[in-house]
This record gives sequence, structure tokens and C-alpha cells, in this order.
Amino acid sequence: MDLSRQYAETRDAQDPIGHFRARFHIADEQLVYFDGNSLGRLPLTTRDRLRDAVDREWGGELVRGWDRWIDLAGQAGDVIAEGVLGVDQGEVVLSDSSSVNLYKLASAALDANPGRRVIVTDDDNFPTDRYVLEGLASARGLELRVVPTDIDEGIDPARVARALDDDVALVCLSHVAYRSGAIADMVAITTAAHRVGALTLWDLCHSAGSVPVPLRESGADLAVGCTYKYLNAGPGAPAFLYVRRDLQQRLRQPIWGWFGQRDQFAMGAGYDPVESIGRFQVGTPPILGGYAALEGARITAEAGIRSLYDKSAELTSYAIRLSDGLTLASPVDPARRGSHVTFHHPQAWQICQALKAAGVVPDFRTPERLRIGLAPLYTRFVDVWEGMARLRDILTSGSYREFAAAAGRVT
Ligand SMILES: *Cc1c(COP(=O)(O)O)cnc(C)c1O
Repeated sequence: MDLSRQYAETRDAQDPIGHFRARFHIADEQLVYFDGNSLGRLPLTTRDRLRDAVDREWGGELVRGWDRWIDLAGQAGDVIAEGVLGVDQGEVVLSDSSSVNLYKLASAALDANPGRRVIVTDDDNFPTDRYVLEGLASARGLELRVVPTDIDEGIDPARVARALDDDVALVCLSHVAYRSGAIADMVAITTAAHRVGALTLWDLCHSAGSVPVPLRESGADLAVGCTYKYLNAGPGAPAFLYVRRDLQQRLRQPIWGWFGQRDQFAMGAGYDPVESIGRFQVGTPPILGGYAALEGARITAEAGIRSLYDKSAELTSYAIRLSDGLTLASPVDPARRGSHVTFHHPQAWQICQALKAAGVVPDFRTPERLRIGLAPLYTRFVDVWEGMARLRDILTSGSYREFAAAAGRVT
């Protein structure tokens, strides 16, 4: 294995999607950004679109802008559906945050399975998912059945299958684990859930824009995901939700807002939701964030999920090869990893601080883990080489010991 910088440069020169980096705003060429899985970079088209939307649409058109803004959540949803998730138009809409969408869809699923008393999730699911499900179980007097998961290897489908019986209403899991990047077997788990008559709800926050998502192949029922990570839509941009077409009419979400209403501007007396995916919307969608989600999804769709995923697998494998002195805390098999890779080190917090001081932005994740996100649209092989070289310097010199050992508020 060639560990020279020149090797990285050669790989970049051969990269079929390498030219996409030029479509992003790079404020500091020296900064090595390993955190596109928390907040993606700013696409240039998005910056232009937002400037125009602020000046011409909001500034000039004022309330008349709603003639064009009213369908934005569905338009962006369609690009995510076809170009990112491989499902049909009319199955995805932008709305709210992932947490709120999770609540809406989990509630709808529980209402659709009224005799059943169990929700299944796993103990390594993202905190907001566990809390939302805990709240729903508590409010409805249901059992939250929590399957144990190895935090580095990811969800074991056999363990999930053993937790299933005909009292289970809903199985709710993350497709790509936020900490280790482990990919869950959506096909096996959905098949097992359907066998006992349960619905499945998948969290795609770390999947959308980085890995192929087998919603179609698995027959998955419901999903939510953010747009500010690999879809590069910016801080606080609206999330998306997916409801398989044949379920849309059957499911009713718990917040009966006017954006789900048939003939919304008739301002009618009672709630009568549209039959389509629009019934899962609630209130006025954020238009600026919605434009950013649309532009971000367009770039991802243009590059193609297959190419993005192939590059991710190579970038994470390359980072692992350059990771002397650290223990891998992600699956070894690249086919089982998303677009980030995680390492274990007892002083991970201090190493993280030392890296930031050296111009590398990673993430710290409990317990004692260093998470390296390698967003394939704009991360180069030389970035991986450079970031890992700075990491090796920090480890061999021990300079990380000069940084405070206590964690800060945002990690
Ligand atoms: C980032 C992330 C979220 C975030 O949810 P918000 O409602 O946008 O704060 C949820 N789930 C997973 C798996 C995530 O990675």
C-alpha cells in the first residue's frame, strides 16, 4: 500500500466525481473538514439561490411570492425521492425537523395498529429517536422494547427478529448508525417486521446523500431524514419524510395543520386532509431552508448515489489504512459502512481538540470515539491524507495531552 501524498493526488486526478468540489464554497483551503456528516458545506448554487430569494422574492415579491413557494416542499421532496432515495415522486415531502417527523410518523403508525402494544428500537439508536419513542410509549402506555446493539458493529438483524411478535406495532431504527457508521440490513429487518404485521420507520439522517437506501427493495413503510448533513442544505434546514404510496391514505398524523388540508385557502370548518403525501405537512414551511434543500438534493442527484457511495467506501478505507495508533470502531467491511468512520482512543476528546487546533475538524462521540466524516461530494483523497498525517503527528508527539480532558457543551 502506497502511503505517500502523491498516491492521494493520483487518486484525486482519477476521481470521476472529483470536479464536484469546485461547486462548493471553500473559505479556507488549509482547513481539513471531516464533519460533513454533521453539517455539509455550502454549495455555490445554494448561495446564489438564497441571495436571489432574499433580494428578489422576499424583498420584491413579498407575500406574492407564495404563488411559487407554496409547492416547494413537494418539489424538493420529489428531487430527494427520485435522485437520492430511489423512490417515486409523491412519496417524499419536506417538513419540520427529523425529530418532529419521527413523532408524526411513529404516531400515525401506532394509530394504524391499534391493538398492538409494543414499539421496537435499539439501545444505540440516535438519542432523539429513543426519546421520541420513549415519550410516545409513556403517553400511550405502551412497551418500548429495546434491542441491544454493539456500538461499533451495528444492529444485528437476528436480535431484532427475536424481539418481534404479533404484539409489535412499530419497528423504528436508524439505517446508518450515527456513531460507528454501521449500515443496518434494512431488507432483512423490514421483512421480519412485516412477517409479524408490524410497520417499519427508518431514520435516514446519516444515509441520505451518502449510501443507497433500499426503501423500495425492502418494502419499508416510513422514513425520515435531515437535509443539513450529506445533502448540504445548511444549519436548521427542514427535514424530509417518506411514506410509501399505498400507505398514505391509510395513515393520519397527529398534528392536524392547515398545510395538510384539502383546499387549504377555503379555510374550511373541519380538518379534511389531502390524500397525497401533503397530508403529512403541518404548517408554513421554511422557504429559504427549503430552497437550500432543493439545491443540495439536486447536486447529490447529479453526482449519483452509486458514485458517491463508491467514493465513500474508498475514502473510509483509505482513512483506516492511515490510522496508525488508533483502534477501528466501525465495521471492517466497507460494504457495511456509511460515509464516516470512527476510531477508539482513551483520550479521544483531547485528540479532537488538538486536531481542531491543527486545522482539522472531526467529531468527538461518547464513549472515547473520534468520528471522521468523509462527505464524498467535496472530500478529496489529499484531504484524508493531510488530516490523517496531522492526526499521526498529534499522536506520536503526545501534544494532545496539553488539551483539557473535560468535554465542552457541543461535541
Ligand atoms: C442528526 C440526526 C438527527 C437530528 O434530528 P433533528 O431533529 O434534525 O435535530 C436525528 N437522527 C439521526 C440518526 C441523526 O443523525
